[in-house]
Amino acid sequence: MTIQILPEIVAAQIAAGEVVERPASVVKELVENSIDAAASDIRIEIAEGGRALIRVNDNGHGINSAEVETAFVRHATSKLTTIEDLNTINTLGFRGEALHSIAAVSRLTLTTRHSQEKSGSQVQIVGGKFTDQRKIGVPPGTIITVEELFFNTPARLKFLKNVTTERRHITTMVTNYALAYPNIKFTLYHDKREVLRTYGTGNLFDVLAKALGADTQRHMIEVTPQPPKRPDLPPIQVHGYVSTPDQSRSNRSHITLFVNGRAIKDTSLAYAVTQAYHTLLPKGRYPIAVLMIDLPPEEVDVNVHPTKAEVRFRSADAIFSAVQRAVRSAVVAQAPPPAIQYSAQQNTGHNSPAPGWQQRRESLLPPVREAAARPAHPVSQQQKLNLELERPGDFGQQLPPAAPTAPLAPADDFESIPDGPQPPARPRTLPMLRVLGQVGAAYIVAEGPIGMYLVDQHAAHERILFEEFMAQQVQQKTLSQKILIDATLEVSLATIALIEENMTVLTKIGFELEPFGGQTLRIRAVPAILAGGDPAEAMHIIVEDLENNAQPGQATLEEQIILRVCKAAAVKAGQVLSLTEMQSLIQQLERCESPHTCPHGRPTLIYISGDQLAREFGRT
Ligand code: ADP
Ligand code: MG
Repeated sequence: MTIQILPEIVAAQIAAGEVVERPASVVKELVENSIDAAASDIRIEIAEGGRALIRVNDNGHGINSAEVETAFVRHATSKLTTIEDLNTINTLGFRGEALHSIAAVSRLTLTTRHSQEKSGSQVQIVGGKFTDQRKIGVPPGTIITVEELFFNTPARLKFLKNVTTERRHITTMVTNYALAYPNIKFTLYHDKREVLRTYGTGNLFDVLAKALGADTQRHMIEVTPQPPKRPDLPPIQVHGYVSTPDQSRSNRSHITLFVNGRAIKDTSLAYAVTQAYHTLLPKGRYPIAVLMIDLPPEEVDVNVHPTKAEVRFRSADAIFSAVQRAVRSAVVAQAPPPAIQYSAQQNTGHNSPAPGWQQRRESLLPPVREAAARPAHPVSQQQKLNLELERPGDFGQQLPPAAPTAPLAPADDFESIPDGPQPPARPRTLPMLRVLGQVGAAYIVAEGPIGMYLVDQHAAHERILFEEFMAQQVQQKTLSQKILIDATLEVSLATIALIEENMTVLTKIGFELEPFGGQTLRIRAVPAILAGGDPAEAMHIIVEDLENNAQPGQATLEEQIILRVCKAAAVKAGQVLSLTEMQSLIQQLERCESPHTCPHGRPTLIYISGDQLAREFGRT
């Protein structure tokens, strides 16, 4: 092929790819233009996740009728003229690429009236070509309507995710601007349904309720600007809100950072926020944060990335430390030092049980049937049954039926055997074990025919619940447990979108959820194994997982949620169990298909054979 200069339209379509990756990028560029135009009211309408329609309507200063066409020329901008201007830029846009790019890949209509002019103008551009231009009577401000995005770039269209995913990206994007500009009124409609409305009160805390849900907002603490550490450092102001340490999340995605009013991604600064919680958060947990970092424009290079999502700092270390200091002082002022929490736990010798735990364990552990009949394992069987380690699966069947003997624990520790038909027992995969006690409120010590077993109670229970759940799924039994007292959850808009996106899977697993207008989610039913627990707490855990694997349609998503449900429902390490509860748990484990590992693949038990014990004690 000969070298030739691409036709302008093709070049524009290619260049558009950099700026306009998906509908949310269009929303971002248009909203930024409205903010730059000093709008105090921005209304965004979306249809079909932005594929069919994106309309941004603002009451900003508008565009002069003489400049309307120019606005669509590549690199046409009213925001800077020389490269030096970049050093002092205080607008969100400056590259002059957005309108040009968006117009190249959609059917765009611009309606605008400059605040100093008597009438407005309207232009239409289809795939980068002006098709219509006229004068029009409209109020001051700008309306940009983008229809059929990517209609002429089928490759791009193919890569778009489903409507719910695109909707979620747009909601997150607009919510971020609402946070960064609490003095601007934002309204967002998806398919004519209002999903976000802020009132432009200038109060960030009001907007937080919308962004995070009222339940989380209540737990946010204010970060106030700190006096500079040294006068020679650039003036860096950090303010916003961060979560109390008891409101952690499993990933960093809840740390939202703004630099000079621009939402940015910066792993190092997200780390600074997390670092500020040092010793206050468990490992692998992250805070929620909405932080505004304001610094002189010359301190930050915003021109690193076409979508300006990443920035570069001149004094990165100073900013890191300013963020860390501001967050740390807010958190420390609010949170009790960890040592106090520790000593409270040490008094009881174990972690305090999670709320709802009492009910939960009653509902989780079925009545003991065999417990009263469990024999002590006569030592004499040891040699005979030495195959156990090698063939754990076969071993059980060789055991003689349990002979009734006197109970080994006080009689009141055992529950009576319920009457009525029992479901057929599943084959044994572990030998019959006799529970001796609990170590560290985390491990059950049991005796087998030829040795000792240490069972991780949490891992074992996870395994039991997982197999139970999977068996029910195979039989397509109803797994749901209706919730009698209405449970509602106040969540972020993004969470509502995420749940809607994954509704089919959640319903299949046994959740019955109903978006209840705005940001309220009503939980009508949960998987039966979660009955007795706190449905809201369980839902939080599931949402976290969905966020971590926000890939709808994943084949394994369903299984991942099931794993999560089992984890949430399982007995925790730190819970003191009664002998009956331990016996019940062990009996169920004995009949699991794969009793040796938890569903995540970690061991559920450690076995020490009689021989090994004898060796350890120098008896052989
Ligand atoms: P940039 O924002 O980088 O300058 P754009 O392509 O987004 O580039 O916009 C080009 C120009 O069009 C802007 O510089 C601005 O003058 C004008 N413009 C775009 N949107 C609006 C709006 N909503 N209100 C007023 N002017 C606008
Ligand atoms: Mg712009």
